[in-house]
Amino acid sequence: MPSPRFGTHKTIESRWLLTLPSFAAALFSLALAIFLIFTAYSDRSARNNSLTQDLLWQKQALTTRVDNFTHQLRTVAASMATDGLASAEFTARTLSLLQESPEIIALEYVDETGRQRWREPEIKVAELPDYRHPELIAIRDAVLAGAPSAYSKIIMVAEDMPVLAIAVPITLNFNGRHVLIAQLNLRTMLQQQVPWWIAQRYQISLWQQEKLLAGRFDRSHDASHLNSSIDLAWGPNQLKLTAHVYAQKRDNWQTALTLVVGALSLLMLASTWALRRHIKERQRTEAQLRQEQALRESMENSLVTGIRAMDLEGRLFYVNRAFCEMVGYSQEKLLGASHPMPYWPPEDIEECMAIYRAILSGRADSTGYQMRFMRSNGERFDVRLYATKLIDGEGVHTGWISAIYDITELQREREALQASHERFVAVLNGLDAAVSVSDANSGELLLSNRQFDRAFDIPEKHGRYCNIPVVSRHKRLPVDGEWFDDFHQRWYQVKSRSSVWVDGSEVWLEIATDVTVLKTAQEQERQQNEQLQQTTRLISMGEMASSLAHELNQPLAAIASYATGCRNVLSQAEPNVAQLDQAIEKMAAQAKRAGQIIRGIREFVQRRAPHRTRCEVSELLETVLTLLGAEIKKAQVKLQVERDPELPAIYADAVMLEQVMFNLSKNAIEAMAATPVKDRALKIILRKQDEMLAVSIIDRGTGISDEQMEQLFKPFYTTKGSGMGMGLNICRSIIEHHQGRLWVEANPAGGTIFRFTLPLVLENEAYEP
Ligand code: ADP
Repeated sequence: MPSPRFGTHKTIESRWLLTLPSFAAALFSLALAIFLIFTAYSDRSARNNSLTQDLLWQKQALTTRVDNFTHQLRTVAASMATDGLASAEFTARTLSLLQESPEIIALEYVDETGRQRWREPEIKVAELPDYRHPELIAIRDAVLAGAPSAYSKIIMVAEDMPVLAIAVPITLNFNGRHVLIAQLNLRTMLQQQVPWWIAQRYQISLWQQEKLLAGRFDRSHDASHLNSSIDLAWGPNQLKLTAHVYAQKRDNWQTALTLVVGALSLLMLASTWALRRHIKERQRTEAQLRQEQALRESMENSLVTGIRAMDLEGRLFYVNRAFCEMVGYSQEKLLGASHPMPYWPPEDIEECMAIYRAILSGRADSTGYQMRFMRSNGERFDVRLYATKLIDGEGVHTGWISAIYDITELQREREALQASHERFVAVLNGLDAAVSVSDANSGELLLSNRQFDRAFDIPEKHGRYCNIPVVSRHKRLPVDGEWFDDFHQRWYQVKSRSSVWVDGSEVWLEIATDVTVLKTAQEQERQQNEQLQQTTRLISMGEMASSLAHELNQPLAAIASYATGCRNVLSQAEPNVAQLDQAIEKMAAQAKRAGQIIRGIREFVQRRAPHRTRCEVSELLETVLTLLGAEIKKAQVKLQVERDPELPAIYADAVMLEQVMFNLSKNAIEAMAATPVKDRALKIILRKQDEMLAVSIIDRGTGISDEQMEQLFKPFYTTKGSGMGMGLNICRSIIEHHQGRLWVEANPAGGTIFRFTLPLVLENEAYEP
């Protein structure tokens, strides 16, 4: 990685490199443009200078020419005065003047009276002015008045001929003055007096107050904007001499050169710009390439997959780091290697060679090969190899590239997983319980053990569904309940709870234990118990038969004696009705009592399902004591009953509670058989304690040893020769059936205390579980 500092430096450098050619090209173009402008400017100012000079020169030439005329006219005038008009001298001078000066269109000699004396040429062209023209008269008069010379105003003849007249005096001997007037055609003068080198470069024109008088033009040339004017004063005339520079045709080579240089600089600018773009593009591509190269390198180095490439002959020309580490050979050692490869285990050469050939012939299996390779230290390891064609950037097939995965660890894990799975399945199938996992929403069965499949025999039609309908599957709480499989006629104890499955979905896990055997045994036991209870009761009744007979005897004997009494009363002459009524009432009471005893016995002996009703425990105790009355008397036991004055009613099965109190009281009486008669006492206490009814039956009997305490409530435990050993067991069942508790304590005064409690439930809470 280049440091950021280096990166910045490099960027600045490359930016300079990029900018420099463009900058140079722009500078060059600018310099060229400045040079061209400067050249044009200096050329123009040079031409301006020469224009001014040439115009001055031209003015000078014209002025000189007019001055010369004046001078020559004076000479001719002098000659005229001295030699006379007829002299050869004068004629020669006049001819010479006229020949030299084509611009002179007329010469006139006018005397002081204004009369024309002489004229050359003699024949006057009609439109030309003569001595009668006001302008000529004006200059004649000026000269006659004494002026050395006079210039007329410009006379325009036929629009295109400006004429300037010059008058000089002819001074005669007799002091008289005549006048010589010459007429100059300024147009001709201009044609004559502008030399070729000026006419070539300029349009020369003569102006009087914006009116063009004459000019010298070359029609084949256009005038440029470059011009200059100069004032020219001839007599009263304010004239202006103007020169227009002809538009110069540029030199062809110069224009061509400028164009070529301009085009070249444009080309240079464009190419520099294109080059700059190209370089930028290239730099971007290079940066991208570098980045990709770095990415490729880091990817190759981070890969755990071995990669190797072979040319078409099967020689290795590329191996990555992971492959080198995998086989334990350096890159130098591997590159160029061919078959047999150093990492082929000697024992597997045949197989390796076959795969090698298959790859080279292009028949490699696309699903890959599982092979065994050898590290440089001889260790073997399993790999999975995938081979494919290597195509270069031009689409040419240059060799074969393979990806190699070390699967030793994977295989080990897979085996371990398999073993663990097998153990799990073995345990699951070894269970007696039917285990199932089903989808909480659809009920689809996801897993079941052998016991489950065997027990429920689920057909596989459209997927399997759990068929244990114990609880709503959307209940969150674990459920524990019993379920009777109607179809197979079996009882199950089902424990269910919701759980999360391996894929994260909510499932219902159920364990159903077949409790049919247990259930049957319980039922049998229950039935046996019932039977036993019945038997117990019958036995109790049998034992009590004599006492009961005695008990019944009493009311029956009373009834009999009352009946005798009644008969005695009736046999009287006047039977005492009141006595009779009393006796009958007593009889009825005794009969009722006998009936009560019999009903009690019947209910007691009757085998029936528990039935809760509202009952007063004192009344129940009363019945029990009635039944035991004879027994108590016979055993000479002192009976003592203590009860809370306001005992609440309870909701219970009256007969069952009677049986409990009957059994406990009877046991207590029997336990006191060996107790001295004076100590024999049975105390029964009925109390209300913390919303419970508490009953204690206290005797002064043999008491119960610690070992006995453990055994007492077990069925068939008895110490009596004729005992069944079921009494206490049944009592506890009954009390627990009423959600109460029955236990035994030693009586500190000697003997035993049996206690039981019953909840004082309200009527609507009393239920049959
Ligand atoms: P059974 O009366 O037929 O023997 P029980 O289950 O009623 O059967 O009593 C079991 C045994 O508990 C009795 O044989 C007796 O040894 C002992 N037992 C019961 N009540 C008393 C008691 N009040 N005092 C001493 N022992 C008792």
